[in-house]
Amino acid sequence: MSSDDYTIIRKHPLGGFAAVKGFDSCEGMPEAKEGHHQYPTVQDALDAVAEDLYPPEYGVSIHPECSDHFARKTLDEMAQEVWEWAQSKGWEPNPARTFGDVCALLHSEVSEALEEFRTYHDTIGHYETYGEGGPFLWETTSANYGNSKPLGVPSEFADILIRLLHYAAAYGIDLEAEYEAKMAYNRNRPWKHGGKAL
Ligand SMILES: [Mg+2]
Repeated sequence: MSSDDYTIIRKHPLGGFAAVKGFDSCEGMPEAKEGHHQYPTVQDALDAVAEDLYPPEYGVSIHPECSDHFARKTLDEMAQEVWEWAQSKGWEPNPARTFGDVCALLHSEVSEALEEFRTYHDTIGHYETYGEGGPFLWETTSANYGNSKPLGVPSEFADILIRLLHYAAAYGIDLEAEYEAKMAYNRNRPWKHGGKAL
């Protein structure tokens, strides 16, 4: 049997978090109501969904309104998490992949960010509180999709980071150390070094 359901983690109106069911065929993002089970943390809600006998067909996502409640990770921890995820989904190990493939895949996420901007930047989707007061790039664009898949420029920026972490882990590159080394160098470069316009 196939369904078009998804689950999204939202803030519970009485405190904590709720795992709210939605359907791809229904327009708009479902609200968390008082009758929903209250979970103390986002992770507790995710764990409960993971234990569900009938996992949602269209997966689970976290509403950006919960973003202050993530356990913040170091870049190393994120790289490890992405690496384990890539293994669990069959993307690793992949000895056939070339460095050219890696660069092209990084490019593809950058291009997807540009396409989101080109196509939907004036459309505010059902993450209407996302980036409230911020620049339009923070608006997401899922109104035309109706499911909980994160969309828009911010999500594509996340895809760029995920791919970068994935391949840094694959090549054994310590991105935190490389970041510090490069920023130390950048701080000492002259004003608009090279005289370029951008
Ligand atoms: Mg993408």
